[in-house]
Amino acid sequence: MRELIMTRGIAKYTLITALLCALTAFASAQVTAVRAGKLVDPDSGKVLTDRIILIRDAKIEKVGKGIDIPANATVIDLSRMTVLPGLIDCHTHLADGAHDGEPMGQFRKTAAQDALESVPNARVTLESGFTTVRDVGVYRALVDVALRDAIDRGDIVGPRMFVAGAYVTITGGAGAATGLAPDIQLPWDLRYGEANSPWEVRRVVRQLAHDGADHIKVLSSGAVLTHGSNPKSQEFTPDELQAAVDEANHFGLRVEAHAHSPEGIKNAIRAGVASVEHATMIDDEGIALAKQHGTYLDMDIYDEECIQEGGKKGNVPKDFLEHDAQLGQIQRDNFRKAVNAGVKMSFGTDAGVCPYGTAGKQFAFMVQYGMTPMQAIQAATSSAADLLGHSDIGSIKPGKYADIIAVSGDPIADIHELENVKFVMKAGKVYKQ
Ligand SMILES: [Zn+2]
Repeated sequence: MRELIMTRGIAKYTLITALLCALTAFASAQVTAVRAGKLVDPDSGKVLTDRIILIRDAKIEKVGKGIDIPANATVIDLSRMTVLPGLIDCHTHLADGAHDGEPMGQFRKTAAQDALESVPNARVTLESGFTTVRDVGVYRALVDVALRDAIDRGDIVGPRMFVAGAYVTITGGAGAATGLAPDIQLPWDLRYGEANSPWEVRRVVRQLAHDGADHIKVLSSGAVLTHGSNPKSQEFTPDELQAAVDEANHFGLRVEAHAHSPEGIKNAIRAGVASVEHATMIDDEGIALAKQHGTYLDMDIYDEECIQEGGKKGNVPKDFLEHDAQLGQIQRDNFRKAVNAGVKMSFGTDAGVCPYGTAGKQFAFMVQYGMTPMQAIQAATSSAADLLGHSDIGSIKPGKYADIIAVSGDPIADIHELENVKFVMKAGKVYKQ
């Protein structure tokens, strides 16, 4: 009997504690209601009108018409604007500091300088409407991990970052620090990702998984913006690419492959990468393979403007301009072919090539080269989230992060609206209004 009373006592106490906890949680939850005049839903490809988005802390709780707004909610009135999910750029390099297009500049700086110079890169990216980025490589290994973590802690302002940690590259390849005399010994963080056999690739992937990478970036062909590199060449062999994908899968990580050349692209697709970056010289067989494997193409068709503009001003090294000759137009024509063929397309700009915070300018080029405005928006929202494997971003739905942006006009009628984002919320917190 005494035991029973004790048990009842404990049960009562537990119930009261639970109630108190629930009340405290309710009282401290930040409740926000956003009134959206128009709401772009990339999942259905529709634009809805007069919706209320109810947000509790970082997540969306309800979306609908005529939802009751709780008395304690902060109301944000975007009823005269078009509301969209936060944009996602699947190809950025935010952690390279303030660079001028000449990678040799990296040798004049410490990793600490790179990191601190990257703070404004992160801020302008978020303020331009990109609430998430897939950052696909950094000159000095793991500076991107540090930047991601500083943003997550709230020390600095920036988008949600998913980072590569380093480039996985052949020695002297597209992701290597090149241009120095052979007898100069590079520090560890400038040669971290070099690998020259399937087992070396596996070793680097294992190290990256341990050091905090969210995905793996491999370089399957030469590059435009690397000294001593030829974008038309093939770099990693099929078995090295296969090793990268297989080893990354052991850690639950996806792989993206840089590739310009037709063979480099096809080798990467056959190896099972999640996306091909640039995909500049993709041929008909490559397009068919991408479709068959469900591989995303992440084609940076805007940055050609900045490479050529920089060339006129003398800011782009001569060998880079030679690599780039004709490739810009080829890439844009192939983008159109891939869109028409129905290949999965994501939005990636190679931010850093063009100034940070200007990625929104790529939307107009994607529309000019064959996408509908809705398809271009989907590439940067629902499709991008699918490529990243994160179902809690990419559209405005209950249970997802409250990553919400707004523009004044109608981006379906005029895609240039996305170059001028007026309102930015990331995980329920307003960063621009
Ligand atoms: Zn890049």
